[in-house]
Amino acid sequence: MPNPNAAEEHWSDHAICRGADPDLFFPIGYAAPVLREQERQAKAICSNCPVVADCLRWALRVGEPDGIWGGTTPEERRLLRRRDDAPVRHHLPVITVRGDITEAAA
Ligand code: SF4
Repeated sequence: MPNPNAAEEHWSDHAICRGADPDLFFPIGYAAPVLREQERQAKAICSNCPVVADCLRWALRVGEPDGIWGGTTPEERRLLRRRDDAPVRHHLPVITVRGDITEAAA
């Protein structure tokens, strides 16, 4: 029987990184051995995630600049975006916060 609430489900509801240490997925760099180890651990989690394809597709579509998404680093996603079959990139909407510094300067 179809789930009547299926339309409300989002792929991130099934992300196995929920509750994981965010530092693992958002290291402050990618060169030092410790950070490489963080990257390896994050990718190991992603490799068992049931929504890895959705996650990567989303990260490519929005041009996610930081962190490990869909088992990829930002540099790996930059390379993937150059492929002809990469998802079309859609920029996220710009959100203006009331009392923004640009308003204060005007
Ligand atoms: S693929 Fe990785 S980053 Fe994406 S939801 Fe799954 S565990 Fe999290």
